[in-house]
Amino acid sequence: MARVGTWLATIRLPGAVRYADYSTVVDAVCRPLYPSRHESYGRNRASGEPLPEFPDRPLAPVGDLILVTVEREPDGDSWHALYCPDRAQLIGPVTDHYGYRLQDDYELVQGHLRRWADPHAECGVPLDARPGEAPPPDLFAQWTDPDLCRRCLLTWLTRPEENRRRDADVPESVPRHRWWRFGR
Ligand SMILES: [Zn+2]
Repeated sequence: MARVGTWLATIRLPGAVRYADYSTVVDAVCRPLYPSRHESYGRNRASGEPLPEFPDRPLAPVGDLILVTVEREPDGDSWHALYCPDRAQLIGPVTDHYGYRLQDDYELVQGHLRRWADPHAECGVPLDARPGEAPPPDLFAQWTDPDLCRRCLLTWLTRPEENRRRDADVPESVPRHRWWRFGR
């Protein structure tokens, strides 16, 4: 059956490809993800049995979230997003239009993301009043940049109660005993 108002979205994970509907009505990638695609009436469609997802599971630790690209037909517009391996779900951003919202209301200050003129970053750290810079339109492309605060990006993307800090969030490059000692 043809689904009105949808285009194919292709989600590329390291070593795997998933497919989904992109709804032009809500301007977002829709759940669930599918394993394959097929052509129908000249338009590519996500197909196959919907892949299992586990939305009630806790979000994976920050370091375990997977950076993916999402490509939307018909124009091939693409952006970077995060996939949670524990939930087997795309967390978002679910549209490339998020970049405009970010650039209107947010700035990057010392690697943190903050709502314009807010004294605190999204992650909660206090920041001085110096103006920052506009976030790039595809901000999540910088997810692995060590100078960027991933906690800020994740908090902006999800409800704060969904992404509590965990021991597993300690960066691999910091030996745990040192981190533990500095944290006291
Ligand atoms: Zn931050």
